Amino acid sequence: MNRREFLKISVAGTTSALLGWEGVAGAIQIASSESFVFPAPVYRTLGRTGLKITMISFGAMLTPEAEVMRVAFDHGVNYVDTARRYMGGKNEEIVARALQGKRDKVYVATKTAAKSKQDVFKDVETSLKALETDYVDVIQLHNITGKDDRMLSPEIREALVRLREQGKVRFFGVTTHKNEAEVLHALVDDKARFFDTVLVKFNFKSDAATTQAIARAAQANIGVIAMKTQAGGYETDALGPFSPHQAALKWVLQNRHITAAIPGMRDISHLREDIAVMGMKFGYLDHLILKQYGAAVQPYYCHFCGKCEATCPYDVEISTINRSLMYAEAYRSDALAQSTYRQIPVSSSASVCLSCSECVAKCVNGLDISVKMARARKLLA
Ligand code: SF4
Ligand code: SF4
Repeated sequence: MNRREFLKISVAGTTSALLGWEGVAGAIQIASSESFVFPAPVYRTLGRTGLKITMISFGAMLTPEAEVMRVAFDHGVNYVDTARRYMGGKNEEIVARALQGKRDKVYVATKTAAKSKQDVFKDVETSLKALETDYVDVIQLHNITGKDDRMLSPEIREALVRLREQGKVRFFGVTTHKNEAEVLHALVDDKARFFDTVLVKFNFKSDAATTQAIARAAQANIGVIAMKTQAGGYETDALGPFSPHQAALKWVLQNRHITAAIPGMRDISHLREDIAVMGMKFGYLDHLILKQYGAAVQPYYCHFCGKCEATCPYDVEISTINRSLMYAEAYRSDALAQSTYRQIPVSSSASVCLSCSECVAKCVNGLDISVKMARARKLLA
């Protein structure tokens, strides 16, 4: 069974809590995908934007076929997150095909990595053209890592406001998967409260500081959307016939401060598996699955916290290298892995390790950094 094939799991009786992992694994039944019924969409409000979006929204990053998105939109999914950089620069064009005849039913969020006013204008115009639309609902500053000039830059804010006045963007957001808590607090502490939304890495391995910062942002009426909800989504034999994906999504969505998750969905089986979570509760079986999955991925999963980077004498960008590696190994997207890795200057890449006699960089989560860097060189350099 494909790791992402739709699983409909029913646990035998009320004894599951007593069975332990082996017992539960033996007690499940897996229904065929033919019996799938799309659930009624469940909506939450995206902070002060007032947009009511589906709890499972569409992360388009890995979706090669527009038809998969169209099926989702036909079943009520009403928010899609993209970026032009994904899929070798083609992702927005795929989203454009999916939106044909449906633009008024779907909110569209895209991203810009621009560092200047002129580049923000240029980026948004290029995105509008690629998306074949007159406006995007949310424009996000891509990959804010904390103490990032872009978030506080007056000229970038000026450009965004101008675009809003022109009717080309409706709301402003940021995305973050490094120093998430710091970024979230900065959004709340910003006197202008400029940004309406945040797309944040959040999953069952996230720390308490991130959970608390998410709560604070949501209480400040900033709309919070979760990404990287699967802690990599690595394949593992440790779960037998189980998929961890539904459990991971349920874990995230049980948090009332999260408006929605945007799992990446490659095909219809992914869509079915993910969309089915709407209306489901996180239960004991989910807890067991995540416990097992969390232990299995512990040697691989990088939190992108960057705490190791201060211990490397050569300033290697270990967290971004590990993120690139995750895109290659877990997401199986060479294009995304390569484009992320290419953004790292050669002087901070994994190649630097070749002239380092001994790896003294320390991971606070016990990862073997020299092994990860060697793997990155093999797959990406
Ligand atoms: S081997 Fe380790 S300490 Fe040396 S440059 Fe690479 S990451 Fe840094
Ligand atoms: S390797 Fe460890 S310390 Fe470094 S970013 Fe990843 S989880 Fe954090």
